[in-house]
Amino acid sequence: MSAPASDFVREMVREDMEAGTFGGRVQTRFPPEPNGYLHIGHAKAIILDFGIASEFGGTCNLRFDDTNPDTEERHFVDGIVEDIDWLGYTPARTVHASDYFEQLYLWAEHLVECGLAYVDDQDPETISAQRGGYGRPGIESPYRDRTAEENLDLLRRMRAGEFPDGSRVLRARIDMAHENMQLRDPIMYRIRRGHHYRTADEWCIYPTYDWAHGQSDAIEGVTHSFCTLEFDSHRPLYDWFLERLPLPSDKPRQTEFARLELTHTVMSKRRLAELVATGRVDGWDDPRLPTLRGLRRRGYPAAAIRDFCTFIGVSRTNSRHEIELLESFVRTELNRTAQRRMAVLRPLRLVLTNWPTDEAGEPAVEWFELWNNPEDPADGTRQVPFSGELYIEREDFAEVPPPKFFRLSLGREVRLRGAYLVTATDVVTDDDGTIVEVRATYDPATRGGSAPDGRRVKSTMHWVSVAHAVDATVAEYDRLFTTAAPGEATGDPMDDLNPTSRVLLTGCKVEGALADTPAGGVVQFERLGYFAHDPAEPLLFHRTVGLRDEWAAIQRRQQR
Ligand code: ATP
Ligand code: MG
Repeated sequence: MSAPASDFVREMVREDMEAGTFGGRVQTRFPPEPNGYLHIGHAKAIILDFGIASEFGGTCNLRFDDTNPDTEERHFVDGIVEDIDWLGYTPARTVHASDYFEQLYLWAEHLVECGLAYVDDQDPETISAQRGGYGRPGIESPYRDRTAEENLDLLRRMRAGEFPDGSRVLRARIDMAHENMQLRDPIMYRIRRGHHYRTADEWCIYPTYDWAHGQSDAIEGVTHSFCTLEFDSHRPLYDWFLERLPLPSDKPRQTEFARLELTHTVMSKRRLAELVATGRVDGWDDPRLPTLRGLRRRGYPAAAIRDFCTFIGVSRTNSRHEIELLESFVRTELNRTAQRRMAVLRPLRLVLTNWPTDEAGEPAVEWFELWNNPEDPADGTRQVPFSGELYIEREDFAEVPPPKFFRLSLGREVRLRGAYLVTATDVVTDDDGTIVEVRATYDPATRGGSAPDGRRVKSTMHWVSVAHAVDATVAEYDRLFTTAAPGEATGDPMDDLNPTSRVLLTGCKVEGALADTPAGGVVQFERLGYFAHDPAEPLLFHRTVGLRDEWAAIQRRQQR
């Protein structure tokens, strides 16, 4: 894997190290909210958070940002742990914002005592309406000037559960006319009687993101806190809280970077959850989703995702990357690692009329030794049976070849990969005129696929022996969304959903060795692409990616 190029984040950390800021320490964290599974955008953040820590001799925690009891669930926590491990990272510690609820509360009392926070009895709609707008100051709450004693009493009673949900909030007392809206007395606590997956019913007040995040960073000893650009305007608030608290260690620093977006897909957990909930995909691990579990099931190697994220790097400009670029990393990795197999997805029977029979009068069987991966001889070879009845791809035969069609047609000779040269002689059709069988002769002098007289053929085709074929199901995938930026035109990505993003092919005929592909393993079907064996369902294969480098084609087009 290539080392990351330097970027503004690495420059900053390097300068901190040289200057001895944070005592020469680097500590980061990856802070997912367990309200969904991780997607490849999270992978970008993980690779940055863990990458910076390891490059500078520091540590990175996994911290569940679990401050919202209504949306968070244990199985998301378990899934996130699993996905980070699969991606190849090990957290120094796994912690939770909910571990800090007591400390956060004590610090809230501290701010109240300092006159820096107050209990507001207004409802959320009123508070929101009073925020004002750009160039328009907000309206101060009538409860803003309560005494510290009164606020402390009310806050304690909020915690004790004396008030109904939504009836009061705790707010920071900053500036209702501040040009940054985030500093207009932001909410720190809400009353909410949700059942929290960890703290159960211990709390009925929950901290907001802004009140929990920086303080959690500080409690853990985080030095560099990376988040996406939309939190840029929250940074002054992040600093405001930390500057007013008796911190156990140096004040952490927040730095923002651009989110990862990819063409033809959606990345927000809300949208992904919608796709799952409405049954447009089969679940969070549907191979069409950009979730890590979806990509894993699709056959994307973790190394390809890491290499892709390293290649695109981090910047402060939002942009949407072409999904073909990601796919080219997947292809490069799989070309190195995937074993080759033969599989016929839309079978057509090919009968060799001059094929010999054995002593028992049955068609003879010959075994050919083929490389498992010509890119890596260490992967060895396997024996593949060949006989007089074979399956070939239906689209590899044309009775009357259209222009530029060089595969099999009547009277034309082609190579069957690693076996023999064959020439089609005639076809058998059913009552509807559909071709059900192609008849051909083979040249016994071409064993291994080359003619002793040096004559050439224009095409090499894959095949599977009928008597030895195993039945498989193959899922072919197209883009989940037809447009590059789903929802750009109408505002709703679902309007751009591709109705045929998956085609299931049953009755595919594959070589016997494929039955031994490990669950989740990825192989190359010769000439067709890379395919992943389903982790749970034997002989179901998901098309990971085709063989053609579409990214190279896009670049050529752009250069022209
Ligand atoms: P979503 O909008 O998908 O729900 P989120 O930001 O709410 O994402 P979190 O679980 O809060 O999801 O994210 C955990 C971390 O991952 C945060 O630091 C966040 O900034 C980062 N992250 C989330 N989405 C992306 C993305 N598309 N690209 C880069 N980083 C991301
Ligand atoms: Mg979030």
